[in-house]
Amino acid sequence: MNRPKVVVTRRMPQEAIELLEKEANVYVWDSEETAIPQTVLLEQVKDAAGILTNVADSIDKEVLDAAPSLKVISTMAVGYDNIDIAEAARRGIAIGHTPGILTEATADLTFALLMASGRRVAEGAAYVKEGKWKSWGPMLLTGQDVYGATIGIIGMGRIGEGIARRAAGFDMNILYHNRSRKPDIEKSLNAEYCSLDSLLERSDFVVLLAPSTPETYRMMGEREFKLMKSSAVFINASRGKNVDEQALYEALQDGEIWAAGLDVFDEEPVSLDNPLLSLSNVTALPHIGSASIKTRTKMAVVAAQNLLAGLAGTELLFEVKGDTV
Ligand code: NAP
Repeated sequence: MNRPKVVVTRRMPQEAIELLEKEANVYVWDSEETAIPQTVLLEQVKDAAGILTNVADSIDKEVLDAAPSLKVISTMAVGYDNIDIAEAARRGIAIGHTPGILTEATADLTFALLMASGRRVAEGAAYVKEGKWKSWGPMLLTGQDVYGATIGIIGMGRIGEGIARRAAGFDMNILYHNRSRKPDIEKSLNAEYCSLDSLLERSDFVVLLAPSTPETYRMMGEREFKLMKSSAVFINASRGKNVDEQALYEALQDGEIWAAGLDVFDEEPVSLDNPLLSLSNVTALPHIGSASIKTRTKMAVVAAQNLLAGLAGTELLFEVKGDTV
């Protein structure tokens, strides 16, 4: 019997590749940081039944057109905005993702970014290594208190809840905004549901964790940053498209908000010309929310399992439904 072909668009942990190789002929673009060239991708998917992808590699209509035998696309991520979901669903292609598996790792990193931005950790570390530390100063590198502050979480889903649990340990006052209320969280963590505007006006730390959808596109813009306190810190660990970066730059530059911590950008990798990188009150990270060794390995294995289920025509462990966007 002919083994199906699978295209893996980046180097993956070996455990995941070995799983795939049991059932399929596997092509791997064997690079950690260089994306598969579009010409290579289009050529390789011609006879592929499955594609295993990630947040950085786009599976758009052009790729789908080039892959007439495709049965399944699996991404090692919870967000799937890099895949043309509607088009894939129209063609009956199953789509897998890895929700839940990366929740705690991403909540850890997001909370680390919150603390680093509030207390100027990255700035302080650079200050020492650049030889700028000449003496102790009473107000040198002073930041914002985290313990006991008010946190506003936009997108109280799996990761948002993980952050709320961490915030409770820091005795923070927890506000959140979603399209729907979460009575369990309100009860267990004493979280308060509020409108987006009220959350922005009252929070010392605003953390964005809503997915990238047409509705959330640029949901943080000039108007929203103006509502925030001048002492407030903005954290984005969701997707860059949710934020108007020019408006964020102006808010930081003009002192409308105090600092920002960003794990995601509109364009990734972020260009060194992006004005946000010129600001000392921006802590920038290269989209490493889920990047712990254990979590990334598990994500790759679950993505491989999703892909194999799609090849076999059985139910995926975690399936994106085409009608969710
Ligand atoms: P999730 O459980 O689906 O949570 C998303 C939350 O956002 C839901 O509670 C949803 O609640 C809310 N939401 C959706 N649309 C909204 C809107 N228009 N306004 C306000 N809230 C809205 O997803 P998750 O697993 O927590 O992941 C969240 C996102 O984090 C992912 O989609 C991904 O983009 C990002 N992420 C980033 C990294 C990283 O490396 N930085 C890692 C993992 C995930 P309602 O439906 O009630 O509105």
